Amino acid sequence: MKLQALRDVLGTRLVTDGTSLVTHATDLSRAVFTGTPLGIVFAESTADVSAALAWANEHEVPVSVRGAGTGLTGGAVAYDRGLIISLERMTRIVEIDAANRLAIVEAGVINADLTTACTEHGLFFPPDPASSRISTIGGNVATNAGGLRCVAHGVTSDWIAGLTVVLADGRIMRTGARTRKNVVGYDLTSLFVGSEGTLGIVTEAIVRLKPLPEGAPVTFWADFDTVSAAGDAVVSIVNSTAAPEVLELMDAFSVEIIESFNPTGIRVPQGALLVGQTAGAEALAAATQIGELARAAGAVGAGIAETDALIEARRLSNPALNARGLKISCDVGVPVSSLAEMFRGVEALAAAHGIRVSSVAHAGDGNLHCTVESPDTPAGIAAADALIDDITRLALKLDGTITGEHGIGSVKQHEVAWQLDEVTRDVQFAVKHALDPKNILTPGRGI
Ligand SMILES: Cc1cc2nc3c(=O)[nH]c(=O)nc-3n(C[C@H](O)[C@H](O)[C@H](O)COP(=O)(O)OP(=O)(O)OC[C@H]3O[C@@H](n4cnc5c(N)ncnc54)[C@H](O)[C@@H]3O)c2cc1C
Repeated sequence: MKLQALRDVLGTRLVTDGTSLVTHATDLSRAVFTGTPLGIVFAESTADVSAALAWANEHEVPVSVRGAGTGLTGGAVAYDRGLIISLERMTRIVEIDAANRLAIVEAGVINADLTTACTEHGLFFPPDPASSRISTIGGNVATNAGGLRCVAHGVTSDWIAGLTVVLADGRIMRTGARTRKNVVGYDLTSLFVGSEGTLGIVTEAIVRLKPLPEGAPVTFWADFDTVSAAGDAVVSIVNSTAAPEVLELMDAFSVEIIESFNPTGIRVPQGALLVGQTAGAEALAAATQIGELARAAGAVGAGIAETDALIEARRLSNPALNARGLKISCDVGVPVSSLAEMFRGVEALAAAHGIRVSSVAHAGDGNLHCTVESPDTPAGIAAADALIDDITRLALKLDGTITGEHGIGSVKQHEVAWQLDEVTRDVQFAVKHALDPKNILTPGRGI
């Protein structure tokens, strides 16, 4: 049996039966897995990943790559008769180089564990997806994850200095450098960030760190009678000198769902709630300035919160929506100046389709997650999908994007041609073919 050759190299790190074959076959998206994977490699080193890919390439076995499986687009879902390569055991923080504000970490390190480890050096890793306590650095790199602090610090790609990548045929490659500046050759680090497991498997990353801001962050809120006014407030805040660290927007339906899942005592607004944080020595002054800007844009109330409970509640929006049965969602982005128009358009589409929509947004980035109510029936799901498609087309009409941070995976595959022209798609397929000519790595997804 051909698997024996891989077992000879990996021993018990190759698992071919048991419940992990089921638990590791899906992610947290609504993509469905049917079939039976050949097995899972629980890699413990770059060499393990290399051996597994060399074997899969030789036998032309499709491979799904898995960090923690928190992805929302089906990228890590297994293939029938495919091999799953899991990075979850590669959890070593190899080095924290405080003098150069760098860390070297294995791909399976959980995002929040890195920040905890850096705290004693007065540093933190800025990319901060709402899943930071459950997702891996490798997964964050592969999806170019965003999150709550992007408005201040950018996305994952802004914080990656270099990568160790195993290519489809098992060869090991190192990109980037530990230096601040490095312009040698093509920027292959950027090519692999966001490549969703289609070009290579990231086993280690050199990540950049930032000094922790002085003092405690200040949490602010403002509520509005219309989402449109909240959108206007966001534009004036991001174009001010206040520089929020976090700027999130939730429409009234979302606040009601999140509040019943995790009560904070905040009143459900008529239109929308803006919550955020400022950081550093001027945090209180900046939060006060933001409150004034919000009132000028039409906020009916604005204030400073005593704790960060509102931010924590926002982090829990995904489980809160899921608990209420809202699972079909999208991750569109628009230029921030179009945020108010996007919110108005989503409300109009929801009314036209006769389906309720919850919208939460990493507002400072113009990145919206709209989740639609849907009965769990084929007709209900089709109706929900049709509304999501219309919301996505609206984002494109406003010069936006079909995905701001979750990626394409399999769930958004049908939308790619809506955004990318034919030439761009040809170039993407050419890159894929050059690096994975047998198309074994996460085939049929991501581009
Ligand atoms: C509650 C919740 C909140 C979330 N909030 C955010 C958010 O704020 N921002 C955001 O961007 N996302 C968010 N997500 C989505 C998800 O957490 C991110 O996409 C995350 O980066 C996935 O990491 P993971 O380790 O779970 O990767 P997985 O789900 O295991 O994989 C995701 C993709 O990356 C690939 N991959 C994983 N590891 C590697 C590797 N080492 N090398 C190559 N490819 C790899 C997989 O093949 C797959 O295509 C959220 C998800 C949940 C459930």
